[in-house]
Amino acid sequence: MAGKRKAPRKRPETDPARLVSALLAWYDRGHRSFLWRAETGEPTDPYRVWLAEVMLQQTQAATVEPYFREFTARWPRLEDLAAAELDAVLHAWQGLGYYSRARNLHRAARLVRDEFAGRFPEDEAGLRQLPGIGPYSAAAIAAIAFGKPATVVDGNVERVIARLFAVTDPLPKAKVAIRELAATLTPAHRPGDYAHAIMELGGAVCRPANPACDACPWAFACEARKQGIATTLPKRQRKATRPTRHGIAFWLRRGDGAVLLRRRPERGLLGGMMEIPSTDWRPGAWTLAEALKETPLPPAKLCRQRLLPGTVRHEFSHFRLELQIVAAETRGRTRPLENAVWCRPERFGDYALPSAMRKLTRHVLEVESVALGRRA
Ligand code: SF4
Repeated sequence: MAGKRKAPRKRPETDPARLVSALLAWYDRGHRSFLWRAETGEPTDPYRVWLAEVMLQQTQAATVEPYFREFTARWPRLEDLAAAELDAVLHAWQGLGYYSRARNLHRAARLVRDEFAGRFPEDEAGLRQLPGIGPYSAAAIAAIAFGKPATVVDGNVERVIARLFAVTDPLPKAKVAIRELAATLTPAHRPGDYAHAIMELGGAVCRPANPACDACPWAFACEARKQGIATTLPKRQRKATRPTRHGIAFWLRRGDGAVLLRRRPERGLLGGMMEIPSTDWRPGAWTLAEALKETPLPPAKLCRQRLLPGTVRHEFSHFRLELQIVAAETRGRTRPLENAVWCRPERFGDYALPSAMRKLTRHVLEVESVALGRRA
């Protein structure tokens, strides 16, 4: 049986209305401007709010700005994005990382066009039906685009609330309590501005290592400040170390210099993106003999198979990848392969290649140029 959940901590001796009005007054005195943010009183465009929220997931605002500018210039309305080719969207997304967000963006645009008559759902439950929209993004879009009193909780908000109420239980266990406390403050009036304001407070004032408490509109009520424990909050449970997965990639070249690229399955990690084909990525290292049974072309169609020197390492959010590379040339005519293309490395930019694959390509080209230099 699940343990009894602790009741939320006592709030500071200030009422939510006072905290909200102090925060909004601070926000109104001056706040950061972003391309995607409508000023108070201006009409908001749900498409722009949604696009920005998806781009900002795990990504800094400064990194997002040029991408947001390009996307909105190229696909100014939801219908434009829905009509775009997935490859074009993935390509424009290159460098923003977490490519599943781009695929979900595209799927969601089509879903809104086809199933919701081109109008975004306005509440959190409706928004969560869209691919790529989790609880945080649904609340942010509901509050900012539609003025719904939704409680927005991202990492910045978690920090502010943990400090304001001196929540000393570690994350992630404390998430539920923090959310409940955050919900006690969410106002019915100006919920979009309030969402911006509390996130900005966390980003600009209540910073992780050195909170600027003297400039904080909630300093008068902050329990962590009173107790001198602000920089220790929120506490976090120690993370387990990231596991390593191993794979062998196949750099297969045709006589005309083209290299085999393959599209990954739509679902799963780096879904729908092009890759240098490889074995599975598994916990145990591969032997060369094992890997050669997995080549995308039959062994009879390959010659000069060789293991290239070096290992390509890449960090994903939940594991480390170590790839070795087998290079080979093709023999005779090659039949078209399903979900694959032959492409010269100088044209790889035409495809959405994830960073791990771009790293791998650079490595192979470097190894090849060193080998050519030796031969010269
Ligand atoms: Fe954060 Fe300091 Fe403000 Fe408390 S007083 S919310 S610790 S910036």
